[in-house]
Amino acid sequence: MLFFKSCPKCKGDVEFNNDMDGDYVRCLMCGFSRYLPVAPRRVGAPERRPELRKAS
Ligand SMILES: [Zn+2]
Repeated sequence: MLFFKSCPKCKGDVEFNNDMDGDYVRCLMCGFSRYLPVAPRRVGAPERRPELRKAS
């Protein structure tokens, strides 16, 4: 996804990306990049594992 003329440094076009660490934008013109505020995610939610039943 591209945002035109959104770079705070050079007013260039920035590209929206995301990776493991979150969402970020990178300017195609000057290379400026910035992570975006991350919406709260579910962290530490209990992981449900299927319980193994003993056959005996
Ligand atoms: Zn720029």
